[in-house]
Amino acid sequence: MGYDVMFGKAGDVVLGLGNEAIARGALEAGIQFAAAYPGTPSSEILGNLALVSKGLGIYTEWSTNEKVAFEVATAAAWSGLRALASMKQNGLFVVLDSLINVAFSGHGKGGLVLVVADDPLAHSSTTEGDSRPLGNYSDVVVLEPFTHQQAKDIIPYAFDLSEKYGLVVLVRETTRLAQSRAPFTLGEVPNPSRKAVFDHSIPLHNLPRPHIRHAELHQRLERIRKKEFEKSSWNRYVGPRNPSLLVITSGTGWKYANEAVQLLSAKDVGILALATISPLPHKLILKHLKSANKVLFLEEIDPYLETQVRSLAADLEKSDQFKFFGKFSGHIPSFGECNIDHAIAAISKIQGIKYKPVSRAYIAKAEDAANLAPRRILTFCPGCPHRAAYYSIHRAIKKNQGKGFVTGDIGCYSLGAFYHDIMRSQLSMGAGVGLASGFGKLDQFGLDEPVIAVMGDSTFYHACLPALVNIVYTQSKVTSIIFDNESTAMTGFQPHPGIGLAATGEKITTVPIENLLKGIGFSEISVIDPFDIEKSIDRIYKAITANISHAIVFRRECALITNRRRIKSGEPTPKYIVDKDKCIGEKCKICSVQFNCPACVWDSETSMAKIDEVLCNGCGVCVQICPAKAITKAKR
Ligand code: SF4
Ligand code: SF4
Repeated sequence: MGYDVMFGKAGDVVLGLGNEAIARGALEAGIQFAAAYPGTPSSEILGNLALVSKGLGIYTEWSTNEKVAFEVATAAAWSGLRALASMKQNGLFVVLDSLINVAFSGHGKGGLVLVVADDPLAHSSTTEGDSRPLGNYSDVVVLEPFTHQQAKDIIPYAFDLSEKYGLVVLVRETTRLAQSRAPFTLGEVPNPSRKAVFDHSIPLHNLPRPHIRHAELHQRLERIRKKEFEKSSWNRYVGPRNPSLLVITSGTGWKYANEAVQLLSAKDVGILALATISPLPHKLILKHLKSANKVLFLEEIDPYLETQVRSLAADLEKSDQFKFFGKFSGHIPSFGECNIDHAIAAISKIQGIKYKPVSRAYIAKAEDAANLAPRRILTFCPGCPHRAAYYSIHRAIKKNQGKGFVTGDIGCYSLGAFYHDIMRSQLSMGAGVGLASGFGKLDQFGLDEPVIAVMGDSTFYHACLPALVNIVYTQSKVTSIIFDNESTAMTGFQPHPGIGLAATGEKITTVPIENLLKGIGFSEISVIDPFDIEKSIDRIYKAITANISHAIVFRRECALITNRRRIKSGEPTPKYIVDKDKCIGEKCKICSVQFNCPACVWDSETSMAKIDEVLCNGCGVCVQICPAKAITKAKR
């Protein structure tokens, strides 16, 4: 948590994450309302705001999904407050319908800012989405800071802009800014005292003539382009008056371009870094285009600037003289993150500069150093309840002559894709349930395998409910399994409606999963401890061989929460050992290979299993699965 950032006073220079800079910027903007759905790389924004919200009278919430987060923030802005919603790029896909409608209708007199953290290279995502073209498509204003200082300072500006022009402002950042630390200087935090008032004079709908609203919206965006962005000091140019190569960039590309120009001593290269992404400052761009014939676009994910600027350049008299380089020419990769190597490679190639990279020996040394870090394979933690649940699903399918398959989506349970390849789908939040609902109706066309839909507890509330209603409504034959580890574990243990805690940690209402399942019409609902392997296999087998839809809630807290609790209370972790006289070794390997717990290690010297005391979390599941009763609890 960024305590220095959130509690520091004006003038302090602090070291913080890009997300912490944005959260501080929101305080300095005088926000009174913030909502988000957790998702890496954006989660720290609301987490840090929640830290100070009580003391400053700010309302914060982890909403059930990103669309709801945007809508509750819109209500606050409509009532005259400054409101912020934050999310990762997948969340923006969920929000789009509401976003486009609010862009048309306006959102009243308050300020409404949406921060979206994109994840180039999909470090913690299933796709690489670019929020810039989506913001442009939705007719909202898009800003993109290049540095941590700008990330903080641009937020109050975004709110001013939103209120002055009545437009939603989307602030885009990418993983390298969101998740890296850099110093920045803090500003004053005001004491906002706006009262929320329902403004009856401003309806939030576009009836009866949405196209008129659309025309007005375009006029406002045009005013912003001319009055604010053409001369905006957020944009930056460095380089000679007539550069032999003009680099046009945004976001983190600014740093890479700068460093590459310095390393290559390419004094004749100019860099135009744009922070006002939509609407783009056409005059400013044209002025720089007129001064150069070669243009390189350095940007992450989509060729957004490249497409927009090239279409702008087509109107110039000398349009046939331009040479454009970027993602279309192959000088910059069309996927993944940008980095300094891409910038150096592209500029040196275009400019014919010989660049002497670091020596092979240096690279080898760096690789050796990297190899010292412990390797982490893509699997569940020791003692994870999801491993136990998947093991039972695997065994139940085996018992059913191998018939059955699993659809799922995103969360830490997605690692089921690597667990005996058991999870066969991983699309958007809740999509596994929708797919299962479809598969469950295909028996009439000859599909003779049962389908199991798996979902996490937070995902259940986020987007699974409509598809679960569909299963009940259409009488689709599906076994729905909810992995309830009592937190949004993958993104940092944020609470959800099943836990009954607010973003600030205070106790609020609990909305139990099983009550909702009952309410939407499931007649067969079981709540099982996934560590009870025999009962779990039995229940899953019964469900997949039954004629009606079953819902199973596997409830057991995340192993990391158990661990934290033990450390806090001083309670020792139970210790388990393998009796070498009983282990049947090579013939078995159930604990180390089939169950695949990282703490059940295969000892090649003795050709038997052993338990790594450091890794073991003391769940005791291996005791149940060992056919030779070779694993027992030991005295500490
Ligand atoms: S070794 Fe056994 S007790 Fe320890 S975490 Fe793995 S399954 Fe659980
Ligand atoms: S499951 Fe039991 S018998 Fe099999 S390898 Fe592990 S300890 Fe040995």
